[in-house]
Amino acid sequence: MALFSKKDKYIRINPNRSVRRQEELELPEVPDELFAKCPACRHMIYQKDLGLAKICPQCHYNFRISAKERLLLTVDEGSFEELFTGIASKNPLQFPGYEEKLEKAKETTGLDEAVLTGLATICDQKVALAIMDAHFIMASMGTVVGEKITRLFELATKEKLPVVIFTASGGARMQEGIMSLMQMAKISAAVKRHSNAGIFYLTVLTDPTTGGVTASFAMEGDIILAEPQALIGFAGRRVIETTVREDLPDRFQKAEFLLEHGFVDKIVERTDLRQTIAQLLALHGGEL
Ligand SMILES: [Zn+2]
Repeated sequence: MALFSKKDKYIRINPNRSVRRQEELELPEVPDELFAKCPACRHMIYQKDLGLAKICPQCHYNFRISAKERLLLTVDEGSFEELFTGIASKNPLQFPGYEEKLEKAKETTGLDEAVLTGLATICDQKVALAIMDAHFIMASMGTVVGEKITRLFELATKEKLPVVIFTASGGARMQEGIMSLMQMAKISAAVKRHSNAGIFYLTVLTDPTTGGVTASFAMEGDIILAEPQALIGFAGRRVIETTVREDLPDRFQKAEFLLEHGFVDKIVERTDLRQTIAQLLALHGGEL
């Protein structure tokens, strides 16, 4: 029947499929490290053209970078002193496969958890610094991430140091259930004590900053910066669309959209971030 002809076109099994697969297999192999596909504009970029800051030359999308790469771009050379290492999750829910997942993340990133914490100087100004790394279980916030950031704030309050945090997160860590959600309140309490002491707190929202991290310390900065085109939100786009039964604009949850609606103070290109942070630190009690 003509009515079903369209449907048939899509479900018909292609007799040449196995042959095509074979052809695909025989295509010349291009090593992953040579080219990168820009997630924003879909252009294939020669890795060398991305530069140290990893910015797409076509659309200026700031690629996700590791905590260690961020450190290189931000702090004075050799000034970083890592703190609060050696804290490990006890898998409180006995979540199957969680220990293995943690081990694998440690191995691939060279980090002990999804956030790197410590003291450093930025243009000769001392700061307490935290950098989240989306390559470590999408920088989800579990008990260890919560504890490290809380200790950093407590130290900064005691030593009267400003705090700078680069956020990136898929949200709370589901493998730790309610323990993850509790970190939101724990960190927020430490942020409040730091704020009551009159000390500066700066957040830089990077791609992606979502879930419980957005709903707590990412949005509690005295000044909130963001990188161009970073995804920033609480619930995912599909969840919201299904709930409110409306189509959302394409730019929804992008840094530029949040800037227009007053959630972000300024969008700063990655190559300008170090200088901008240094100026803000100087304006809020430091020296330049
Ligand atoms: Zn691009």
